[in-house]
Amino acid sequence: MNNLNINQIHQKFLQGKLSALELTRGCLKVIEKKNKQINAFLSLNDKAEEQAKEIDEIIKKEQRIPGLLAGIPVAVKDNILVKGMPCTAGSLILKNYYPVYEAEVIKKLRQNGAIILGKTNLDEFAMGSSTETSFFGPTKNPYDLQRVPGGSSGGSAAAVSSNMCLVALGSDTGGSVRQPASFCGVVGLKPTYGRVSRFGLIAMASSLDQIGVLAKNIQDTALVLRAIEGKDEKDETSLKLDSSTQIPVRAMDLGNLKIALPKEIFSEGLEDKIKEKFLGFIKKIEKRGAKVEKVSFPYLEYALSCYYLIMSAEASSNLARYDGIRYGGIGLKKIKNLEQIYLKTRTQGFGDEVKRRIIMGTFVLSRGFQEKYYLKAVRIRDQIKQEFQKTFSKYDFVITPTSPTLPFKIGERISDPLAMYLSDIYTVPANLAGLPALSQPIGFIDKLPVGIQIIGNWLKENLLFSFSQTLENLVLDKTI
Ligand code: GLN
Repeated sequence: MNNLNINQIHQKFLQGKLSALELTRGCLKVIEKKNKQINAFLSLNDKAEEQAKEIDEIIKKEQRIPGLLAGIPVAVKDNILVKGMPCTAGSLILKNYYPVYEAEVIKKLRQNGAIILGKTNLDEFAMGSSTETSFFGPTKNPYDLQRVPGGSSGGSAAAVSSNMCLVALGSDTGGSVRQPASFCGVVGLKPTYGRVSRFGLIAMASSLDQIGVLAKNIQDTALVLRAIEGKDEKDETSLKLDSSTQIPVRAMDLGNLKIALPKEIFSEGLEDKIKEKFLGFIKKIEKRGAKVEKVSFPYLEYALSCYYLIMSAEASSNLARYDGIRYGGIGLKKIKNLEQIYLKTRTQGFGDEVKRRIIMGTFVLSRGFQEKYYLKAVRIRDQIKQEFQKTFSKYDFVITPTSPTLPFKIGERISDPLAMYLSDIYTVPANLAGLPALSQPIGFIDKLPVGIQIIGNWLKENLLFSFSQTLENLVLDKTI
């Protein structure tokens, strides 16, 4: 069951060899067995089995699969609103929050027959690269319980990787789908900014946030994207698409492809073993006919600073609503006035990393510093966009490792924010430029998974999937 893709599972449903209920129960069993240790799920949907039964009845009666994800158990990062379930964003401040409405992506999952299995752990308000800043404790990497699963969508990545579900949703502001995907040996996609509605996603940095997909293979990733993409009147930044994601994905001939390899990635910080593995894989691609060329991206070295300025500016403003009145009641006693409600709620309700970013964000937006920091970052963001545009006029894809390091030990970086921020060095440029980017596994080093990142041109997810399918076949050593 674990090696089948969604399409193959649907065939089994139709043949009567497997039911949605069996599949859902199978996942719940794995969760029961492993979640205490891994801590991937924060809450479970007690209606999951009931919903699976309903799908089974339709399949039996109508002999058809009612929806792209019919009967497929999906995990959802706990910063995406699901009606009837808590939504904590990994924070004490939202511990008791039950949304009164539902995210657009969840509505679409339901329309496509998906079974929402439960909500997954994350760094508090999606701020982090290790899932250690969650108020509800860290998630562990299924490949090595001493190590982090990456973050901030570490719960979703660990859930897919340890067979607790088939696919999962995450959110990616600076790499939070791709980096944990790489650490947990699964596929992680951040779509083009605007391809998927952000309505009902708890905002971190609105100009960078995108809901993304974690799955075991490219076919499933494309299928989930197809189910959740498209214009939504409730999100002004969502895009009307000229063409939907094509399924099934077909592998392509690498013969005519031109791929850019940013020179700047070989700076210090990239672990030797990853470099070796990455370059070895590039050789394989070249052998199949693709042209891979080293290209200079002079602004890339500023991408991380630029990201951390823009992200914290936007986050500080988005997080102003957690004031104990509008959102974030944490049950305070003996309060004398309004100011105390604000102060105590935010002091007690937020963790250190969130506070650090709020302070940094309000600082860079303050009078006198706005020009020096925030506006400068906005200009650099423009330069980065232009560099990508120039690159995509000559090349089909940009390729990098997903992360400069292997999954690190729990606790190793938590007290050194700068070291933690370096985890995102290869992933943030795609968010700054709004481009689609995908991480996929290419093998193991010391029994730990390693991923590469492919960045595609704006809205060219179909091409990206075809290329990635070819690479997936190459990794699995199937003939292309
Ligand atoms: N790790 C990055 C950060 O801490 C990215 C977070 C994200 O993508 N949500 O900001």
